[in-house]
Amino acid sequence: MFPEYDVIVVGAGHAGCEAAVAAANMGARVMLATMNMNTIAQMSCNPAMGGVAKGQIVREIDALGGYSGIVTDHTAVQFRMLNKSKGPAMWSPRAQSDRMLFAGKWREMLEAHENIDFWQEMVTGIVVKGERVVGVRTGIGLEIPGKAVVLTNGTFLNGLIHIGEKQFGGGRAGERASTGITEQLRELGFEAGRMKTGTPPRIDGRSLDYSKMEVQLGDENPVGFSYTDTPTLTKQLPCHITYTSKEVHETLKTGFDRSPMFNGRIRGLGPRYCPSIEDKIDRFADRDRHQLFVEPEGWSTCEIYVNGFSSSLPEDVQYSALRKVPGFENMKMFRPGYAIEYDFFQPTQLRASLETRLVKNLFFAGQINGTTGYEEAGSQGLMAGINAYLAVKDEEPFVLKRSDAYIGVLIDDLINKGTEEPYRMFTSRAEYRILLRQDNADLRLTPLAAKIGMNHLEERMERVTHKQEATAAIEKLLSNYSIVPELINPYLESIGSSPLKQSVKLNTVLLRPNVSLVDICANVPAFAQELEQYDSESRELAEINMKYEGYIRREQEMVDKMNRLESVRLYENIDYHTLSSLSKEARTKLTQLKPRTIGQASRISGVSPSDISVLLVHMGR
Ligand code: FAD
Repeated sequence: MFPEYDVIVVGAGHAGCEAAVAAANMGARVMLATMNMNTIAQMSCNPAMGGVAKGQIVREIDALGGYSGIVTDHTAVQFRMLNKSKGPAMWSPRAQSDRMLFAGKWREMLEAHENIDFWQEMVTGIVVKGERVVGVRTGIGLEIPGKAVVLTNGTFLNGLIHIGEKQFGGGRAGERASTGITEQLRELGFEAGRMKTGTPPRIDGRSLDYSKMEVQLGDENPVGFSYTDTPTLTKQLPCHITYTSKEVHETLKTGFDRSPMFNGRIRGLGPRYCPSIEDKIDRFADRDRHQLFVEPEGWSTCEIYVNGFSSSLPEDVQYSALRKVPGFENMKMFRPGYAIEYDFFQPTQLRASLETRLVKNLFFAGQINGTTGYEEAGSQGLMAGINAYLAVKDEEPFVLKRSDAYIGVLIDDLINKGTEEPYRMFTSRAEYRILLRQDNADLRLTPLAAKIGMNHLEERMERVTHKQEATAAIEKLLSNYSIVPELINPYLESIGSSPLKQSVKLNTVLLRPNVSLVDICANVPAFAQELEQYDSESRELAEINMKYEGYIRREQEMVDKMNRLESVRLYENIDYHTLSSLSKEARTKLTQLKPRTIGQASRISGVSPSDISVLLVHMGR
């Protein structure tokens, strides 16, 4: 009934969708097997993509040829560039999407790919021959043969939903839990753990009084995520902001004795930085109020997502408390918030390619690896999809370094450190933030993806070359263009910057604090005219390159130093126990994690600088 596929992807969440298109665009014959085709690319929680650090990841996915950015741009209802008042390393795109359109667009793009076949059913196990995976087994007893398998089961593995004292099996509201896979993988020797996450109630927007809330509009000039020509938003939906109060907190506390979080019924560890409202009240008892973002779920629905009010308290308590929030006095609820516990697998059981160490050609991606978030999931899916096909072709894996991408940081952290709580990306996790910006992901990554044979990137590569050339031309123009004091001094004085005494090149003016290229253009019309031939992205990049040149150079020097360690390969078969100068902990960790390079070894907790010296001596340095 089924041909032998190159790559079988299990699950069509954010990780599964990206894995399927990545493998397909590499040329693989792909089977995407998922429990319910009507929930392809379902946003389980917030209908939003991006945000701080996550926005950078979406742009990286896009630069590597993934589809999350394109889908988001096609389905956005609001776009904002966060942190615009901070340095460019912190600028982070974020979009609210129409939840239904988002899922629909993903399905349309997947179905448009001739290399992807679909099967709707629960996969209950993998088929293993020797030490290699050779397919999957489904609930009705079918076997689908495949040379590589990517598991992206998300929150579904033995999922258990909690609302107050009620608990029932489920992978997400209204959907069955997935059974069989954890049990089989445990038998094969995998270590599984338990995590939890939660979601807020969904509200009938017709019952809210927005006049009591602050309005939050999208950007005046929204840009979007994709480096391709996706539609620009001409119309946007507003979000609103309101607050909890002491009264709301008191009402919520009346349900604490029935809370599965506090009475020990939930044992899985939740995300510390994305706490439930009851957690916030408990942990930050001195705070009188917490901010709530009232976010629309789409163009054609009145459903509202209450960001900041994630809860697994009994539904009656959620209801009474929410009705005390300004604007929510007559609120009607569509469904209560809930928490979900699910199985995950410690990602230290994976190689840098996301292939498992225990079973050849078996890959894990997404929430199954202990991460949380669509962006984290999508990026792992993309990398696993690429590497699954490279493994089938017996080619070297595609591994991004920490200095290449946030995706490199994410995977490096996961496989070397593991995680005890749902892992989400923060800018602080990346040591080379000024290099890993959202504006240059295409320059960093598109050439790498094109090199490994990712199809459909020819046009993108042309754009990359064009952007590089345009940026260099703008930088040259700025360095050569002389500006006379009379022309620029009124502007400089207006921003409190000392006036020029003689003509200087424009780049020296741009380097001053508070001076921007846009302002220079507004005050020097002849220069603005010369700049008109260049697109806004190239202008922005040239400005960042010039203003932050010193920081960028310093970070690049650190990268070069680190890369020297990254280039010292460690062989998989090194018997670390024979290296008696290594600490005991280092021997255990190195044996367990089998780092590929000295650089990777240096990031394993428990491996000290003196252990690294021992390894360098051993490797002949
Ligand atoms: P999922 O999106 O969960 O997709 C899994 C897919 O696999 C689904 O299509 C499912 O049908 C399919 N599947 C599962 N098992 C099988 C099987 N055996 N056979 C066939 N198909 C299978 N993230 C945040 O960043 N912040 C939050 O606040 C947040 N809150 C959340 C709250 C809840 C209640 C839930 C459920 C998730 C929340 N998330 C949150 C997490 C976010 O939804 C996930 O990180 C993201 O969706 C993970 O993507 P994924 O592709 O790994 O898995």
